[in-house]
Amino acid sequence: MTPTELKTAWLAKWRRTLDDGVYRMDHPEAHRVSCRLEALDMLEAGVIDQMEKLEMDELADAAYWHAVEELATAAEGYMFGGHYDVVRKAGAVCIGRIDANTYYSASGPGADGFDGKVFGTKHDLRLVFRRNDEAWPIKGLLLTAPCGELYDLVQTAQVINGKVYPIICDADAYRTVVDCAQIALEEHDFESYRIARPLLVTAKFTKCAACLDRFGLREDCMNCAGQGFIPKTSIQPTSSA
Ligand SMILES: [Zn+2]
Repeated sequence: MTPTELKTAWLAKWRRTLDDGVYRMDHPEAHRVSCRLEALDMLEAGVIDQMEKLEMDELADAAYWHAVEELATAAEGYMFGGHYDVVRKAGAVCIGRIDANTYYSASGPGADGFDGKVFGTKHDLRLVFRRNDEAWPIKGLLLTAPCGELYDLVQTAQVINGKVYPIICDADAYRTVVDCAQIALEEHDFESYRIARPLLVTAKFTKCAACLDRFGLREDCMNCAGQGFIPKTSIQPTSSA
């Protein structure tokens, strides 16, 4: 392979990662890092120069900010690394919990300490039980048993960079994180935003759909009473054993 052919092929590979919309929307932080690492490898191999790398990194950053702005208004779904109570809709009984994709039954875990695992991608998720290999599909935050019985996944915490953060249930705390995230977004401060984003997505509050938390509209908004955000409707378990 000539140096020109190598550059063409490698750029095409980088471009495929950059253009992978599913990966970008499912894992925006990982998508950005993958693009930047690919460009770094190309720089270290002498295939591109520093200037070309900067331009490529700018494209990866722009893709990231574009994705997260879109995701800020997206419906909530299962978060990898989330901690969830599994609550039967009928009777609101907590039957177990999922911690970072591992299921533990409330009635006491099995021999090796756990009872199941969550597998799949965001678009095709299932909880697979160890005792019988049964796979229950997860759609959004809803788990369905083969008999049709429905279970809510009620998030209690989120793991970010290896640390467990409780879900934000306090309105003042939520306001503070919203304001910090807004500044990080405007200043393209990646390190701050990557921490704020999962906290906002998993919080017990969501942006008010009527005023969109916009300055000037918010104050007179009847929907959120001037707060700019409203509580998410969720089911509370009667037991969190
Ligand atoms: Zn409002």
